[in-house]
Amino acid sequence: MLSINNESGVIERIAERLALVRKTIAQSAAKANRRTEDVVIVTVSKRQPESLIRAAYACGLRCFGENYAEEALIKIQNLSDLRDVRWDMVGQIQSRKAKLIVNQVACVQSLDSLKLAGILSRLRAPDLPPLEVLLEVNVSGEASKAGFWAVSPDSDWPNLLPVVDEISRLPRLCPRGLMTMPPLQVDMEENRKYFRKLKNLLGFLNAERPALQLRALSMGTSSDYPVAIEEGATHIRLGEAILGPRPTRERQTV
Ligand SMILES: *Cc1c(COP(=O)(O)O)cnc(C)c1O
Repeated sequence: MLSINNESGVIERIAERLALVRKTIAQSAAKANRRTEDVVIVTVSKRQPESLIRAAYACGLRCFGENYAEEALIKIQNLSDLRDVRWDMVGQIQSRKAKLIVNQVACVQSLDSLKLAGILSRLRAPDLPPLEVLLEVNVSGEASKAGFWAVSPDSDWPNLLPVVDEISRLPRLCPRGLMTMPPLQVDMEENRKYFRKLKNLLGFLNAERPALQLRALSMGTSSDYPVAIEEGATHIRLGEAILGPRPTRERQTV
């Protein structure tokens, strides 16, 4: 049996937030004539304690996203008793830390260089299925942002084709689609244009490389997921909307 410390009503609070999130997903999907089943919730659990992940699991959540390799490794090992859990990496991975997570996760959503792609493919264990990857792309043009530069459809998008070709030739990787992290906005409508652009970029890549059948669009966080769903998100990455405020680094307990 699962034992969860629920003294402080943690499960109930997550269940309440999740109910609200599901209602919002249903409304946004309806607006866009989409099915709610086609939107996967990735619960982003960075800096959150394992107890909270167990509580989220008890509420039915099965896909979790982590940002930092060391933290992810410890959590995945300590939570290995949770059945049917899927772990994705959503944060930047330094080359030398790739080995920590490459055989622990189902998907790297934050693939941002060919160098990392090569390392992941080389390290992925032969007895596991190929590692799913999403190309993280920068469609907004913020200089500080990670990801392949994909700001201009006329010049940057065609430049991505050799990148996609090279990744698709790596034997132990399976490219599934695109991920983006647009600017943090006060008004979520400000990000609609970036979500739409990501969807158009996916369409461009599929038109040029139909065999790859890229389907995943990971876009939208707690602050803008309703708009992301309206624009076609297949994966929304929700941290605070489900788990509540994140501990600051100082208070971190893993
Ligand atoms: C932290 C994080 C999220 C979730 O952010 P929230 O605002 O808590 O929903 C999503 N995607 C990435 C890449 C993140 O680092």
